[in-house]
Amino acid sequence: MELTINHLSKTYPNGVQALRDVTFSIPTGMFGLLGPNGAGKSTLMRIIATLLDADSGSVQLGDIDILKQKGETRRILGYLPQEFGVYPKVSAQAMLDHIAMLKGVASRGERKELVGALLQRVNLYEHRRKAVSSFSGGMRQRFGIAQSLIGNPRLVIVDEPTAGLDPGERNRFYNLLSEIGENVIVILSTHIVQDVKELCTNMAIINKGELLYTGAPDDALESIDGRVWEKSISKPELETYNQQYRVISTKLVGGKPLIHIFAEEKPEDGFSPAEASLEDVFFSKIFGLN
Ligand code: ADP
Repeated sequence: MELTINHLSKTYPNGVQALRDVTFSIPTGMFGLLGPNGAGKSTLMRIIATLLDADSGSVQLGDIDILKQKGETRRILGYLPQEFGVYPKVSAQAMLDHIAMLKGVASRGERKELVGALLQRVNLYEHRRKAVSSFSGGMRQRFGIAQSLIGNPRLVIVDEPTAGLDPGERNRFYNLLSEIGENVIVILSTHIVQDVKELCTNMAIINKGELLYTGAPDDALESIDGRVWEKSISKPELETYNQQYRVISTKLVGGKPLIHIFAEEKPEDGFSPAEASLEDVFFSKIFGLN
């Protein structure tokens, strides 16, 4: 099964062109949609989730035309939006039961079994009687995954799921997602490179509504291998280096800036070859260096 996006464009009524002729395919497994804030990720996710209409183009999943067959799409879709509202005081168990009913699981016994299994799966069973509104960020996201899995979706969309999670919560969430991604298409939209690095077998990078790269993270790394160089400099030198070189990233190591630059040949000036990271790929694409 493959999700095929063809020449998709979207301009909001205020004139912002959020997607510009985007074309790529998403195979089964974990797929990372990476881009900075404002890149157009949510717009794309919401179009695929049938919540927003595109201006032109098509999205096809197997024999389903997603832009036209909204009912069919919703039946096979699990969606975890960037933010979802919860009713205060309603327990996790009651809320999942309610969503399962809305999604057509009519038998009470069947719902009970399903809800219990889902709560176990996302590790919230012991908290099942607590109100979702009292959950921590990580627990909420895991609850969100549980609700998105009701109805055995073939396509799961998670929009910026790890923003605001602490490292422990993020790890638990990664483990959960990677289990899900084995037989279905999971699209993970994120501005966090680490999410893609740890989870995804394929990815796309978008910026300003345009597709900049699509392929496997490893191939992306290979594409810039040998052209990334690093040097530890002092803070006051940073400005000069920024002017002189194509600086991709700067991070502080022991209080001193370690810069990564992009260059075809080894620069003079004490640079050494750097092991290319997905961050380097991301920024070199975003800055249009590669
Ligand atoms: P991302 O999810 O990558 O942060 P979005 O898809 O939310 O990006 O936004 C893409 C662009 O469209 C941004 O410039 C944003 O300001 C704009 N945008 C998003 N939603 C709306 C809307 N409802 N009306 C007008 N502009 C919007």
